[in-house]
Amino acid sequence: MGFEELREFMVITQLIPRGIKDKRVLKVMKKVPRHLFVDEPIQYKAYDDMALPIGEGQTISQPYMVAIMTELLELKGNEKVLEIGTGSGYQAAILAELSKEVYTVERVALLAERALETLRSLGYNNIHVKVGNGTLGWPEEAPFDRIMITAGTPRIPGPLIPQLSQGGTIIAPVGERFSQQLLKVKKSESRLTEEYHTPCVFVPLIGRYGWERNTEK
Ligand code: SAH
Repeated sequence: MGFEELREFMVITQLIPRGIKDKRVLKVMKKVPRHLFVDEPIQYKAYDDMALPIGEGQTISQPYMVAIMTELLELKGNEKVLEIGTGSGYQAAILAELSKEVYTVERVALLAERALETLRSLGYNNIHVKVGNGTLGWPEEAPFDRIMITAGTPRIPGPLIPQLSQGGTIIAPVGERFSQQLLKVKKSESRLTEEYHTPCVFVPLIGRYGWERNTEK
């Protein structure tokens, strides 16, 4: 099977049977060339049902996790989105296909550079990448209509709340160091409502408001 067929197979066998329904999400999962976001020797595994290494001890999330987190954001197409944890840039590309503008923050400079290179080579011009501590958000560009954290965290970092628009949504894997649950937070009339979804395991969000560096447990 070629990459295009593998991608279609991924959607049919991993996403639809697990309940991903949003047609726009399914369409972009079928479109974005996930294999170009990982190193060549492991490209043949890019459409398998798993996370994969991207260097620096980090991972590109499992396709299903990317799809469900994206679906939970309920993007219509005109949103300004903040992503924390650029990693390979794959999730940013998916978000950019479904919204107006994506701002993404990565703490590891090498990963940010590589992601930017991949995204530019694929022609994405509505993605802005910054190196820094994403737990602080991106105050100069706030407010954001949607915020997605793609690293596990004990709580939603406080500085992100004022950077979320009225009616806005945050999705994040929240919980313990080695097991979390997707948490969806909605802001309306300055009130926050919380909803827990699928259990998951993400690499840690590091830094103030996330996990301190040496909290290994
Ligand atoms: N969304 C990525 C996968 C992210 S893996 C993709 O599609 O490939 C989690 C990423 O979060 C890692 O690259 C890690 O370096 C980054 N990260 C961890 N703590 C961070 C922080 N405080 N600020 C920004 N990025 C962080």
